[in-house]
Amino acid sequence: MSRPKTGRSLRQRLMRVFYPALLWIFWPYLFLRLPDYPGAHITFRRLVNLYRNRWEINRLRITLRSLPLKLTIEPINVCNLHCPACFTGDGQVGRARKAMPPDLYQRLLDEMGDYLWQLEFCNWGEPLLSKQIHTMIRAAANRGIGTVVNTNFSFPFSAERAEDLVRSGLTILGVSIDGARQETYEQYRVGGDLDTVLANCRLVQSTKRKVGLATPQLVWSFHMFPHNVDDLPRARELARELEMTFFVEKGWIVGEEWDPSSSVEFKDPMVPFPCIFLWSQAVVNIDGGVAPCCGTFYPEDDMGQLRLADTTAGAQTFAEVWNAERFQQARAMYRSRTAAAVKNHVCYACPATIVWDRWKEYRAHGGDPSTFDPGFTMNDSFNYFWNRRPPGAAAPRRLTIGTR
Ligand code: SF4
Repeated sequence: MSRPKTGRSLRQRLMRVFYPALLWIFWPYLFLRLPDYPGAHITFRRLVNLYRNRWEINRLRITLRSLPLKLTIEPINVCNLHCPACFTGDGQVGRARKAMPPDLYQRLLDEMGDYLWQLEFCNWGEPLLSKQIHTMIRAAANRGIGTVVNTNFSFPFSAERAEDLVRSGLTILGVSIDGARQETYEQYRVGGDLDTVLANCRLVQSTKRKVGLATPQLVWSFHMFPHNVDDLPRARELARELEMTFFVEKGWIVGEEWDPSSSVEFKDPMVPFPCIFLWSQAVVNIDGGVAPCCGTFYPEDDMGQLRLADTTAGAQTFAEVWNAERFQQARAMYRSRTAAAVKNHVCYACPATIVWDRWKEYRAHGGDPSTFDPGFTMNDSFNYFWNRRPPGAAAPRRLTIGTR
């Protein structure tokens, strides 16, 4: 008697049999492995929070007992450049332009500092324009939190400030340098000066040697576009000369993804997974607005508001917002998107939520994990946020970037 044809290849049939077994075998490792947050001190509280957090993601818990592992804060939302795929660079005004009040930052540290593995200082502005940045980094580093600053570094930076930065205990200084020549670099970093950036990187490296510290680790972050592909070899060489770690990722653009067949990938692949921003990472803006993630810009999409010293409105603690209605609605979508109570919630039509929904359906119908097509790329994700503007917001000034 011949076997009925299932339409599946041998590989697909083997995957169906072994995939659950592989997941089962590696599950303890995936659950127990330490997160990659350089500079973080491993403490009992951080470990308990980590494993509680992973357990809660695994169960798709809607109300969380754990706090985020990583916090992104916006020290200041002012920037000196005009990068075309950034809301601030494009001249949009979502909130008043200012620095984060020190007491708001201190409250966040007091509440979350023992549990955080990483604090990232950068959202919609240039963090090193903040006069408080060294003090803020030092306060986090003193609590054993790994710290990251992402900068364009295209402004005058004195030897004194370099020493303050190095002595602050900063773990990683990521520098966005999208080119090895001024004419290519400035196509995306509009208004930037490559020589200034490179001189500042040299200054930080020499200051590290002078004061005898190995940190911060300098990372050359190269966003690849059609116009700067040819600069890659020279940029790598320059990074080596400057003793910087070189990291290249595909740059996203407004509209269709450029060269989808390119071997360089976006930083984060589009994978079916519960959105980390709803369970283990959080973003707080200068005005105490808690954003759902670093993709949203306008306060209309905030999940909640932290109280400021000069106001009475808002939550006193981050945990109140973390478990308030908006976050709960978003987490509930990962259990059932069709039952979502609020369809205009930013998470509802977000590619991350839709991909997870498709994945669940696909697996429920016996789909082969190795051939799952998310149907979105990270460029689509960027465009989702880019096009999400409240009524009355100015239309973007530039529509395309990165032509060769
Ligand atoms: S909008 Fe998307 S990426 Fe942002 S928190 Fe919601 S689901 Fe996650």
